Amino acid sequence: MSYDDNNIFAKILRGDIPSFKVYEDDYTLAFMDIMPQADGHTLVIPKFKAETLLDIPADELIHTMTTVQKVMSALKSTLGVEGVVLMQLNGEAAGQTVPHLHFHLIPEHLRKLKGHGAEQGDMEKIKALAQKISSAL
Ligand code: AMP
Repeated sequence: MSYDDNNIFAKILRGDIPSFKVYEDDYTLAFMDIMPQADGHTLVIPKFKAETLLDIPADELIHTMTTVQKVMSALKSTLGVEGVVLMQLNGEAAGQTVPHLHFHLIPEHLRKLKGHGAEQGDMEKIKALAQKISSAL
């Protein structure tokens, strides 16, 4: 399937809509999920136009996973959590709702998580967490 340039993460990458950015480099962007499944729920995306994990070249994927690792480390150090869930959905059938490859980093244990993309969080709280995590990156 061809990449949809109008998906919401493509718009965030272009700066057409705002996000609570925690990290950016030449290849990747990390920002807060606004319907967090736990405090500090962060998304890492490649700048490369890929819909799923099967659509990204290996070198781009390495850059993306390097950012995933950096953000996970920042989440652990700033939020003081023991565990971070790494989740990644491929295709609508698997529950993917935004067709731009992304990795969910969710601090907390899987059993404690709220529903996926279910309920908007407190935007002031999310903004404050973004600043805290960003300061460790
Ligand atoms: P998925 O269902 O795996 O495609 O995940 C998409 C995620 O994007 C969900 O967890 C949503 O809460 C999140 N989301 C949707 N719109 C936005 C947005 N504008 N800014 C940040 N996160 C978003």
